[in-house]
Amino acid sequence: MGAEHVDEPGWERVSLRQLLFAEYDIAFSVIGRAWQYIHFLRTHQFCGQCGAKTERVDWEMAMHCHRCQHRSYPRVSPCIIVSIHDNEKILLAKGVRHRESNMYSTLAGFVESGESLEQAVHREVFEEVGVKVKNLRYYNSQPWPFPHSLMVGFVAEYDEGEIRCQENEIDDAQWFDIDALPTIPPKVSIAGQLIAETVSLIGDK
Ligand SMILES: [Zn+2]
Repeated sequence: MGAEHVDEPGWERVSLRQLLFAEYDIAFSVIGRAWQYIHFLRTHQFCGQCGAKTERVDWEMAMHCHRCQHRSYPRVSPCIIVSIHDNEKILLAKGVRHRESNMYSTLAGFVESGESLEQAVHREVFEEVGVKVKNLRYYNSQPWPFPHSLMVGFVAEYDEGEIRCQENEIDDAQWFDIDALPTIPPKVSIAGQLIAETVSLIGDK
């Protein structure tokens, strides 16, 4: 994992993303947690407040500074992810990072300080595609260890506005018919699950 080297014969280095999309015996959540702990320990070797060397706490997952008593815990970054529908159609966007793979997905973004999850949904949707949404419904959540996100999924109804893509973030966004979907993320990801949920919602109407 990461910078640690394993040179044992018969061992193979695989990335976290490879593990996510492969079916190994060890649950992805266990490996994801291990990766987040390693990332935490590696990035908190010194106190963020006074700069002294920190030490691992032996009874909880934390790094402690014995000079100023500041204690750090593994970081978890909440990130909203939202699927938007309007009658028979679903709004999907292609981020600039997916320009080559041509994959369309739900909208997502980090929650800012002082913001509720719902406020983050409204802000992100408006920033990324320029539309307003209503009737948010919580769907589910998924830890996403790249490196420490917690994806919080919502389904929302379109309210008003024309699609206007955010420069440098969104390459394209469109309303799609559920029987003519573009390339979308696999169902191991919450994005894929949200799209499937929205498609079945529309299909039930
Ligand atoms: Zn300190």
